[in-house]
Amino acid sequence: MTFEDLDLIDPLLDALDEEGYDTPTAIQEKIIPALLKGRDCLGCAQTGTGKTAAFALPILQHLAAGPDRPGRRPIRALVLSPTRELAAQIGERLGAYGRFLHLRHLVIFGGVGQGPQVTALRRGVDTLVATPGRLLDLLGQGHVDLRDVEFFVLDEADRMLDMGFIHDIRKVLQVLPAKRQNLLFSATFPPAIVELSTGFLHDPLRVDVAPKLVAVERIDQKVMFVAHSNKKLLLAQLLSDPAVYQAIVFTRTKHGANRLVKQLEQNDIGAEAIHGNKSQGARERALRAFRSGDLHVLVATDLASRGLDVEAVTHVFNYDLPNEPESYVHRIGRTGRAGRDGMAVSFCDETEGAYLREIEWSTGQAIPVDDSHNWHYPAAIPPPLKPGTRPPQGNRRGPPQQGRSGGGSSRGPNSSGGSGGQRQRRGDGGRRRRN
Ligand code: AMP
Repeated sequence: MTFEDLDLIDPLLDALDEEGYDTPTAIQEKIIPALLKGRDCLGCAQTGTGKTAAFALPILQHLAAGPDRPGRRPIRALVLSPTRELAAQIGERLGAYGRFLHLRHLVIFGGVGQGPQVTALRRGVDTLVATPGRLLDLLGQGHVDLRDVEFFVLDEADRMLDMGFIHDIRKVLQVLPAKRQNLLFSATFPPAIVELSTGFLHDPLRVDVAPKLVAVERIDQKVMFVAHSNKKLLLAQLLSDPAVYQAIVFTRTKHGANRLVKQLEQNDIGAEAIHGNKSQGARERALRAFRSGDLHVLVATDLASRGLDVEAVTHVFNYDLPNEPESYVHRIGRTGRAGRDGMAVSFCDETEGAYLREIEWSTGQAIPVDDSHNWHYPAAIPPPLKPGTRPPQGNRRGPPQQGRSGGGSSRGPNSSGGSGGQRQRRGDGGRRRRN
């Protein structure tokens, strides 16, 4: 299938051409036609599947088809996102896909002054991308009017729940007009999300894209057993390999991230930490330096990394193993993007064996062991799982994600459809390419 088959308008096809996208991803193939027909959708998918374009393209097409309204432009599409970084990325994608359309997008989030956001709102925007806290603030102050919203997207609903935003979301839902189109994305569906979604989605099309298949396809994974006290030495040695061009190192805590940055600096390895205690300015500066290649090592906690889209990440290091398998999939999904190969190395110390087995059980894959380093620590190796049994601590988020529907899910967002990088010619549907 090509993007032309999805009945997208020329300005969007041209923008996709410029982005270098040949083929829609599995989630795009399913969700774009349904949204264009006006249907509500429920997507079980996470970052790396191409989910942003799956909703951004139909929103842009819907807005472009609307009548020109005199006076100030009302907000016609609202996207709620759990984190600032993800919100900023969605805004950036809307700008990229909508570059040939005359639509306005605005991203609002907390941690920065509200002045410029209010000024932009006064001028009028078509699409508002927001984190819940700042949206409610500005709604309360009368700077945001959501009465004309026709399209509502709730992105990463499970993460919203984890971050305690559920009440904020309900408040936002109360002020949206009843007649609108809705989309909800979530990587997992705990009961609270099921309840929330049944409350506001009408006869949704449900699309599942199993995350592990997308995330791990191009990623070479390995685990290194190492004593806790030797982790920093092992990391410093691995980072000194010139093949490690851009690395994200994950720690479990903010404090651990700060400490690690200091330790790396003592080894002459420049690194910056991004986590929730860093100011927005500091996070943006670190990200900019990382994106530009001035900074090679970013130390991050899970929350800060959510949705991070940096194309050239060559390595992900799990300095601490996450205690939730979903976080593992998210983390390693930061590498192997945009058609590049990636490497994910996880450290497992004497206290983390259960997490490792939990990850393996949930993803249905054993992670290959690399013991060819100076600090290999056999005492950290957990006993193997008996076939058919669960890891001792149990899975917090339900059964493994294998065997889900959604066909085509083994294809990553960047797989080529065999068109050799050229967009296939459209049929005689009457559309012409922009020159
Ligand atoms: P997302 O899951 O929305 O975070 O997207 C993951 C990455 O895939 C982003 O870098 C997108 O720019 C990219 N992407 C999205 N759709 C496609 C596509 N059809 N072909 C190639 N890359 C894509």
